[in-house]
Amino acid sequence: MTTTPIIIPIFLPNLGCRERCLFCNQKVTAKEIPSPLSVRGVIQASLAKLPSDKKRKKEVAFYGGTFTAIEKERQILYLKEVQPFLSSGLIDSVRISTRPDALDEEILSLLWEYGVRTVEVGAQSMIDQVLMLARRGHNAENTICAVRRLRSWGFEVGIHLMIGLPGDSLQHFSKSLDRLTDLKPDFVRIHPTLVLKGAPLEKLWRDGGYSPLSLDEAVQWLKRGVLQLERASIPVARIGLQATKDLERSLLAGAYHPALHQLVDSAIFFDMARSLLQLSPKNGSRVRFLCHPKEVSDLRGQRNENILRLKEEFKPSEILIHESEVWPKGSLGLQTKEGRILFHRRSLLRYHSLPEDRDVGPFLTG
Ligand code: SF4
Repeated sequence: MTTTPIIIPIFLPNLGCRERCLFCNQKVTAKEIPSPLSVRGVIQASLAKLPSDKKRKKEVAFYGGTFTAIEKERQILYLKEVQPFLSSGLIDSVRISTRPDALDEEILSLLWEYGVRTVEVGAQSMIDQVLMLARRGHNAENTICAVRRLRSWGFEVGIHLMIGLPGDSLQHFSKSLDRLTDLKPDFVRIHPTLVLKGAPLEKLWRDGGYSPLSLDEAVQWLKRGVLQLERASIPVARIGLQATKDLERSLLAGAYHPALHQLVDSAIFFDMARSLLQLSPKNGSRVRFLCHPKEVSDLRGQRNENILRLKEEFKPSEILIHESEVWPKGSLGLQTKEGRILFHRRSLLRYHSLPEDRDVGPFLTG
């Protein structure tokens, strides 16, 4: 298993962006655009605070805008500031986030020359209609070409996806994932669409032209997405935007939760537990689950919600959880008189067809 790197983020809000995407208000994640000259100080200050963990790579990340659409000279000014840290070995590599239509061969050559090894591509969706309504200004084909080009250079590729954009649906999301898994990115980040103060989406929402996914809907969509990606062995690096005070202050509506990833994992464990109990009904008798210690909180759910729901549905006399380090992570066991039944989360996709769909739209964003 690869260890996640320690990232020193430098936010360049909206820098390089030609237009404002419908959902975007980068001002909530960073206040000012740091100048190239300030980058060295930021890295030094961050390195001084970092724990010395020699096993984890350290990366500087330029996030928050369209890095590769900034004027070339300015890109170089930013990247040059990282070079002394790369030469001394204090930093291992650089990562950037950008749009799929700003990644031509010349840009990739420049990035490689200056130590960029990871590129996070804002795909958001692989459905052209959804991209058009979100005013992205690129299409799914741009993402396919960009990822293939990045791969041929040897970059590590991350993909950002959103759910619940205008015109989106669970079927669209599932199709987007199918198209992306064919491209085999190294990791994926997914977050639900949020209505943020100052983003163009705010007006559409206030006018009644858009209603975001509820938290429950988002968890159901994400559950399916996570399982689909796991089946394709593609790691999910993050679910949901990073919780910050600025983000919470700007949030008007949408499926936001500071521990969204955990909610999704709990929903997966609930489904596994339910599937096991359906195989072996427990009315009035004792249920004994077997689970890895690190996953007991997922099995229980927030405030023990999963256990309460299972008790309500299956009416056992009690539910016991036996924790064991030897129990494989990602799986749940049920002790029965005949032996143990094992259920792995990978099997869930077979049990769950796509539920009743709800379109987030149709909406014109004029
Ligand atoms: S979503 Fe990305 S590309 Fe769109 S305006 Fe915001 S920072 Fe720029």
